Amino acid sequence: TPAAETVAVKPSGEVRDVIIIGSGPAGYTAAIYAARAALKPLVFTGSVDAGGALMNTTDVENYPGFPDGILGPDLMENLKAQAERFGAELVAEDITAVDLTGEVKTVQDAYGNSFSARAVILAMGSGYRKLGLPDEDRLSGHGVSWCATCDGFFFRDKDIAVVGGGDSAVEEATFLTRFAKSVTLIHRRDQLRASKIMAKRAENDPKITFDWNSEIAEIKGDHALECVTLRDTRTGEQRELPISGLFIAIGHDPRSELVRGQVHLDDEGYVLTQPGSTRTNLPGVFACGDLVDHTYRQAITAAGTGCSAALDAERYLADLA
Ligand code: FAD
Repeated sequence: TPAAETVAVKPSGEVRDVIIIGSGPAGYTAAIYAARAALKPLVFTGSVDAGGALMNTTDVENYPGFPDGILGPDLMENLKAQAERFGAELVAEDITAVDLTGEVKTVQDAYGNSFSARAVILAMGSGYRKLGLPDEDRLSGHGVSWCATCDGFFFRDKDIAVVGGGDSAVEEATFLTRFAKSVTLIHRRDQLRASKIMAKRAENDPKITFDWNSEIAEIKGDHALECVTLRDTRTGEQRELPISGLFIAIGHDPRSELVRGQVHLDDEGYVLTQPGSTRTNLPGVFACGDLVDHTYRQAITAAGTGCSAALDAERYLADLA
């Protein structure tokens, strides 16, 4: 992908104002704001996932400002170009170690190069858990989705399925009945983990049927999803379920391992920020986007908190001066 790879930033021993880790909507938006505040941010985009989660999708129809929708990779290319236009420097590497505790913070890339700054913005996002099946990535954006809010609209009057048994799976299934002709909820066990009230709502919904004790053995389709093969978890028996949409709702893993032990995390590994701000427990360290967000997990909310993180960092640096 990116032209980011063409930018060679050598470690110079210089203490910068801001380092941003991550290049999804949160990281690039933080970069745009920090760059326009003349803070010359250094952005580590990641070596394989530059551009973040939206690089793996097709149409994004809910990002404001694009009435005809925009392809995920095009949106991210635009954000990147906008950040670079104002002087953000991008490095297509992963950060593998950090020391964020002192007034000057240090981050290290996979080659052992160190970079320092007075403020660091964490925007590493969160990974949607995958089923780990061969055609899952190939059909992502072509029937396979991780986000009902984002993609439900594309499945008007279609037969679709949701896989998972927790609150988010049930919430997605219920939401999807607004569009779909039928929603099959596929779950490995014989009862839901979701809260009683949500489970009851789903059970009473005439559009939702349950496939208990079932796991997905195969995802099939040439150019778009056509069906999944279900395996009975007790008998091993297999059968096909024709569907044009599959929503995978088996959880998320915030990418916070890098900062564990320094930045406070909640039980699920999300970075904790002080209410109403992007400040973490460490002065000069800010966090934004899906790395922090249990609830909304949208490109626009990630961009919004990316903006807040840059403004918080700018104020922090102004107070240091
Ligand atoms: P991400 O986009 O996940 O970006 C995280 C970034 O951090 C990546 O660039 C990664 O390379 C980088 N990174 C991580 N660790 C390191 C490290 N150690 N060093 C350097 N870099 C690192 N939302 C919508 O609003 N509309 C949609 O239509 C929509 N469709 C979606 C479709 C799919 C298939 C998926 C998976 C998500 C979709 N979403 C959609 C959700 C949206 O993509 C996320 O909410 C959003 O991308 C979160 O932004 P973020 O910047 O917090 O994290």
